[in-house]
Amino acid sequence: MSAPAAQIGVTGLAVMGRNLARNLARHGYTVAVHNRSQAKTDSLIADHGDEGTFVPSVTTEEFVASLERPRKVIIMVKAGAATDAVIEELVPLLDEGDIVIDAGNAHFPDTRRREAALREKGLHFVGSGVSGGEEGALNGPSIMPGGSRESYEVLGPILEDISAKVDGVPCCTYVGPDGAGHFVKMVHNGIEYADMQLIAEAYDLLKQGLGASAAEIADIFRTWNEGDLESFLIEITAEVLSQVDAETGSAFVDVVLDQAEQKGTGRWTVQNALDLGVPITGIAEATFARALSGSVPQREAARGTLPAHAGAFEVSDRDAFIEDVRLALYASKVVAYSQGFDQIAAASAENGWDIDRGAMARIWRGGCIIRARFLNRITEAYERDAELPLLLADEYFTGAVGNGVAAWRRVVAQAALAGIPTPAFASSLSYYDGVRAERLPAALIQAQRDFFGAHTYKRVDKPGTFHTEWSGDR
Ligand code: NAP
Repeated sequence: MSAPAAQIGVTGLAVMGRNLARNLARHGYTVAVHNRSQAKTDSLIADHGDEGTFVPSVTTEEFVASLERPRKVIIMVKAGAATDAVIEELVPLLDEGDIVIDAGNAHFPDTRRREAALREKGLHFVGSGVSGGEEGALNGPSIMPGGSRESYEVLGPILEDISAKVDGVPCCTYVGPDGAGHFVKMVHNGIEYADMQLIAEAYDLLKQGLGASAAEIADIFRTWNEGDLESFLIEITAEVLSQVDAETGSAFVDVVLDQAEQKGTGRWTVQNALDLGVPITGIAEATFARALSGSVPQREAARGTLPAHAGAFEVSDRDAFIEDVRLALYASKVVAYSQGFDQIAAASAENGWDIDRGAMARIWRGGCIIRARFLNRITEAYERDAELPLLLADEYFTGAVGNGVAAWRRVVAQAALAGIPTPAFASSLSYYDGVRAERLPAALIQAQRDFFGAHTYKRVDKPGTFHTEWSGDR
């Protein structure tokens, strides 16, 4: 008996592809599976073949031939050259109207290039962000597909089916044309950097400021997870801080080397924000904080050499300080998200993507690393005003952040006086004060530019563009 025609195929069966294929099969789809080296295909069938209907293939030709039309092929291989190699192999075997989905972590300019090339051949190319790691891929990720609307009509129901659900709503929706899906996934990762850095700073303030132990801080985070801060990252932070190192008996976090690594999505987010001219200070500081942690020669040269001139950390009311840190964390987090959504709006306008920001917050509520209760508040804010120029200016966030501003200032000031670095807390507060300022010192910068470069300036009291003939005798 010949194998049934597969409804969808997955090529690339490392952790992500394997789990995505299993997720599809568990949802009742007949899934064609293929991997460059056959061993991964064999082990998927051997270990999980009973979870649903898989159609394994050894060659790409067999794999493509096993799919019903229009063919839907998910590529889940290493991002970059590997993805191009797989596309090159697939394309000659496909027919007009077939859909190629890159579910890896591609950089969005690559997705734009690939989409344009395949569109010329009559094929649909869907660059899709998939968040949630291997666990999400298996049990329901957050899915951010870009590409043509036409392809989403065919593909959308399948992706929505296998995505995470929150209150019965799928964490998957059409994002926008060409690179929009991978762009949104990139900003999602940038926000994840900011969120993690802010949590790390809160931990450091409680550790260095209060002298609290990892176990005590775990309890504080557990309590925070019952309120506005409820999120996957806060939850796992409490778990990580509770962990004891089996070898030494110390808190696990204390035996981990303090050098944070990165795979590049934070850097891409910051590079793009610079191109767009959007201030994403929270994400940028988080990315640079990782870079600083890994600047080993610089840290060695500075450690014990640069004077601190710092005072002792004065805390008269321990509980009040913990509450201050909680409020500062929440306010800084709102700033980081607000900036990320500004970046999405700017890129959407520049590329004609028409991205619905409220829908993006909705599909991040489940399945992904930044899933959090407060994403509901963001969706509601954009429902109140789809064109909201600044998330912070929404009535809910104005109130929520406003309540914490005094605490935020106390925390940042105390940290500075005690010599505890809080780059993301401090830069977010500076952004808040900058964006709400009546008048900024940018006026002086414009005057300086006119002085040395005749770059001209505008005036507050009349329209037009002006240049002053600066002379030596003033
Ligand atoms: P990976 O380690 O990034 O890649 C391994 C897979 O790529 C293997 O199937 C490998 O085939 C295949 N491959 C590499 N070069 C190839 C080439 N030239 N031609 C054909 N196939 C090639 O796998 P992963 O961790 O499962 O991630 C897959 C994608 O998902 C990546 O883009 C990753 O960035 C993204 N992603 C990963 C996570 C995560 O938590 N891991 C989360 C979200 C997104 P062989 O077995 O033959 O070597």
